Amino acid sequence: MGAGAAGVRALVRPEVYTLEPYVGGKSLDEMKRRYGRADFIKLASNENAYGPTPRARAAIVRAAGEAHRYPEGGYPALRAELARRNRLKPESVILGNGSNEVLVLAASVFLRPGEEAVMAAPSFVVYEHAVRAAGGRPVVVPLRDFRHDLPAMARAVTHRARLVFVCNPNNPTGTIVTRGEVEDFLRRLPAHVVVVFDEAYNEFVTDRAFPDTLRFVRRGLRVLVVRTLAKAWGLAGLRVGYGLGAPDVVRPLELIRQPFNVNLMAYRAACAALEDRAGVRRAVAAVVRDRERLTRALACRGLLVVPSQANFVMVRAGLGPHVNGSGASLTLALEREGVIVRPLPGRLLERWVRITVGTPPENARLLRSLDRVLYRLRRR
Ligand SMILES: *Cc1c(COP(=O)(O)O)cnc(C)c1O
Repeated sequence: MGAGAAGVRALVRPEVYTLEPYVGGKSLDEMKRRYGRADFIKLASNENAYGPTPRARAAIVRAAGEAHRYPEGGYPALRAELARRNRLKPESVILGNGSNEVLVLAASVFLRPGEEAVMAAPSFVVYEHAVRAAGGRPVVVPLRDFRHDLPAMARAVTHRARLVFVCNPNNPTGTIVTRGEVEDFLRRLPAHVVVVFDEAYNEFVTDRAFPDTLRFVRRGLRVLVVRTLAKAWGLAGLRVGYGLGAPDVVRPLELIRQPFNVNLMAYRAACAALEDRAGVRRAVAAVVRDRERLTRALACRGLLVVPSQANFVMVRAGLGPHVNGSGASLTLALEREGVIVRPLPGRLLERWVRITVGTPPENARLLRSLDRVLYRLRRR
């Protein structure tokens, strides 16, 4: 072996070097270390402010003594329960190490090198990453009024397209596409594409026009609905999500996934969390109530807010003649106040930040910090 490790680059599939590592919201640990203060609040990653339910916590503790065992292969209890409550067969359910993994599996199963996947922008950055990693080509269609432009997305589907991603509600804008729009969209699509509906935030939706995409699954269409226990169910740190599709759509994903891709604690906690419906319903109701309150409070301060159907809101940092700040500078100013929010990558939303709805005390603290920051900025 003559060549050194540096030359390994020539062996790497070229698409790998088109990727950038995913950068998540800043963590509490990192901020506490950097600023030497313990009272940070994190409103940056759309996590559930209320944490896991008591039953899920108990299940995690119980599973600790069995951590030397693999989980039950095939995850029968969780798949059966998800199938039952969605009126599907267990063969229609694929579990993932976070719903992220389900998105990655879909890209690797349905895309050959050079084939296209249509997606909106700005939207969840994982779609583009998964498509490139599979050697596919992202075809990006701009949002219109902060919403997916489904007619334009349908027009962007060429004979090379195999996948379409629809993020509903959309991250980072919090907007939805309606039942009528989605039905129209599906009618326009050719037979050679699979549509992935990423519904990570569906539990927080109150708009009655939100589509019931499982009807398409039950009808046997080429649709994969992706959901997660990371948001409403409070298990982001354990990594467990799932896809729902006709058995023929789900089966190839099931064939390619790693054995034991969902770990034992995540599996047990997910089963327990699903039994705790009342607890989750209370947390979701509180978030929905506080989302509306936060939206009004931000608007009262003269800030532009996009009405959201998720557990976060997108707010414009730059405002009129007084403040023309970037999302990054507002994020930094709030960070100095001990509040972590999320600036948005790319140029399209550089003047916006995304803020997760927290508990009432967290939201109150955000608003106090924001008042101090805006006061300083507007005086300049
Ligand atoms: C948070 C989020 C997910 C969830 O990812 P997990 O891997 O389940 O944690 C999926 N899609 C979108 C759009 C999200 O914002």
